[in-house]
Amino acid sequence: MHFPKQIEIIEVGPRDGLQNESTFVSTEKKQKLVKLLEKTGVQRIETASFVHPRAVPQMADATEMARFSLEQGLSFLALTPNLKALELAIQNNVPQIAVFVGASETFNQKNIRRTIDESLAECTEMFARAKEERLFIRGYVSMCFSCPYEGAISYDQVKKIVSHFARHGVDEISIGDTNGQANPKIIFERFMKLKENFPQTVFVGHFHDTNGLALANILAAIQAGVERFDASIGGLGGCPFSPGATGNVATEKVVSMLHQMGIETGIDEQCLAQASAYTKTLFE
Ligand code: MG
Repeated sequence: MHFPKQIEIIEVGPRDGLQNESTFVSTEKKQKLVKLLEKTGVQRIETASFVHPRAVPQMADATEMARFSLEQGLSFLALTPNLKALELAIQNNVPQIAVFVGASETFNQKNIRRTIDESLAECTEMFARAKEERLFIRGYVSMCFSCPYEGAISYDQVKKIVSHFARHGVDEISIGDTNGQANPKIIFERFMKLKENFPQTVFVGHFHDTNGLALANILAAIQAGVERFDASIGGLGGCPFSPGATGNVATEKVVSMLHQMGIETGIDEQCLAQASAYTKTLFE
């Protein structure tokens, strides 16, 4: 087995996590959460989304969150789902942006109301604009293994989007098991193929714990050479702290497993426990 010395964890709780929670969390609480997360030593946090507030009311405070993240001196990511969102992110001096496209045509159309080809065309324009501003670009590919509408997703469906992102020089590509149905075998095989086809590309694993396999999937992805993972404090992004939670893999679980295996993350587990405890109060 392959055990690297170090793995980077990207904390996505304040954005990807909270975006999928139905209860609105105040800006003040979000900022406190980000402060607690920053104290853990995590290097990058996704703190905002410039999506239209009507589409996702939870993210209506993107401007305040971006300003706060800058004041904290954070290296942070903001989701920019379209050109308009990207312009707002630029106006707010966001250093790292993220775009997303679904590998499933049906999911993409239902979620973004565009075909995959339309999404990719808009991404091309966004990449050009983001590069003018010298921004770090993350590309999210969601539903990379299966989809609630289409069932199994083929490697070629994922490859099509990855190759578009790679051709336009994105800085990293986050491969999402968005509905948490993948298993270690498909994770290992798919990442091995991606690394073979795109040897220059930096891949990130973005796993959900729906079937309790997220940690096993992380271990499988590590075997395929992946050294960056998204994780969400408290498993935010589904139904946190309740049985059958379907959120993102919890940061505290990932960090604990990696540290037990002697893999460094630069994250302090005690501080992480404090952030996790605070997460439980977000919905009170
Ligand atoms: Mg997610």
